[in-house]
Amino acid sequence: MALIKCQDCGKDVSTAAANSPQCGRPMAMLTGKAVQTQRKGGKYEGVGFLLILVGIGACFISGAVGGILIFIGFVVFLIGRFL
Ligand SMILES: [Zn+2]
Repeated sequence: MALIKCQDCGKDVSTAAANSPQCGRPMAMLTGKAVQTQRKGGKYEGVGFLLILVGIGACFISGAVGGILIFIGFVVFLIGRFL
């Protein structure tokens, strides 16, 4: 368990904490790839990418459902790119 600085309030926050106790910023945004990007659209890109992956998986069950999920994921990903 380590302490890292919250990017919003500058307080030391445990990496095990889900949110910054001071400002409530989600700590998942402070670790991993999100630290490098630090862009507002980064999480949309992540969600979009996840939807595309889920959509690809859903294609094995239903091509229509998978196609819709991939499409939504692609749109969300693009929104994240332009934020
Ligand atoms: Zn904070």
